[in-house]
Amino acid sequence: MRSYSLQASAKINLYLEIIGDRPDGYHELAMVLQSIDLVDRIDLRPIGTDTIRVRCDHPQVPPDKNNLAYRAADLLVKQFPDALAKYGGVEISIHKQIPVAAGLAGGSANAAAVLVGMDLLWQLGLTQSELQELGGALGSDVPFCIAGGTTLATGRGDELSPLADLGSFCVVLAKYRNVSISTAWAYQTYRQQFGSSYCAPEDLDCRRERLHSGPMVGQLPKDRSKIGKLLHNDLEKVALPVYPQVLQLREAFESAGVLGTMMSGSGPTVFALAESRAQAEEVRDRVKSAIASPDLDFWVANFSNTGIRIVSDGNEMKPQINADQRR
Ligand code: ATP
Repeated sequence: MRSYSLQASAKINLYLEIIGDRPDGYHELAMVLQSIDLVDRIDLRPIGTDTIRVRCDHPQVPPDKNNLAYRAADLLVKQFPDALAKYGGVEISIHKQIPVAAGLAGGSANAAAVLVGMDLLWQLGLTQSELQELGGALGSDVPFCIAGGTTLATGRGDELSPLADLGSFCVVLAKYRNVSISTAWAYQTYRQQFGSSYCAPEDLDCRRERLHSGPMVGQLPKDRSKIGKLLHNDLEKVALPVYPQVLQLREAFESAGVLGTMMSGSGPTVFALAESRAQAEEVRDRVKSAIASPDLDFWVANFSNTGIRIVSDGNEMKPQINADQRR
């Protein structure tokens, strides 16, 4: 049986608005999600047993049942026991480049790659929407990570309407190694501080409808120069006052003359948009020397229209290219 090697893209939030509470206890969100070519590589190898094995040498990534990639495989084992009996188990090797717990959906991207890869390995013949439905049971970001590109995400973030390609923007990302922000804390704190301004449950449908004719859907594709002004993230309202390093990064990017800058998801990664690779690298160098912290990591990547990409099947492995090498 074949082995598969896949690339799983990170995402940034160009827009994140918390609209209200949902009857299921989650928040109702309006987001514009964008894939970038900062990728993890996921290798799937058939093993002659009926088990799922995960290998990952990143110290923050659990190489066991707590790994979201494992949970994706386990979901398929439960849904398709006949395929497990026919084809056997799989070893999942995760080669991390996407920073962990960073607001870039690294774990969700890994789970998405496992769903796409195991569908091929076990010849399940699932459609993209069937894979996305399975992915939604693992996490709100997984359906987007399967499709990738530029998408309006509503509901819990799993109701997706693809948007027109925004073209070739470049992204500089920065994250302090010693700062982490709990996603649960960020959303709970937002509810405590801003819950009184939430949209009433009976108005949610109407509000969701209005998004489709609002500025982020209408203007973004038409006028590239507006992208910086449209960046928005409600979670900054709770994160920036509590995490001075994230605020400092935001300010440093703003002073470096970028198109726009924003925290991604629940942070702590901050990204900035640039027109070209050269401008992005210049911004990175400027912020690096302005802050000069040994704990600060940087990445430069491009917008991507792909969520999961199959880079090899069978014996022949195509050479891997990391995000910094793509110019
Ligand atoms: P979220 O916003 O959903 O919290 P994130 O994008 O900020 O996610 P991830 O990189 O997905 O962050 O990691 C979140 C947590 O999930 C980490 O604490 C990590 O230990 C755990 N985790 C489980 N599986 C994975 C995986 N395959 N890759 C990365 N982290 C994983």
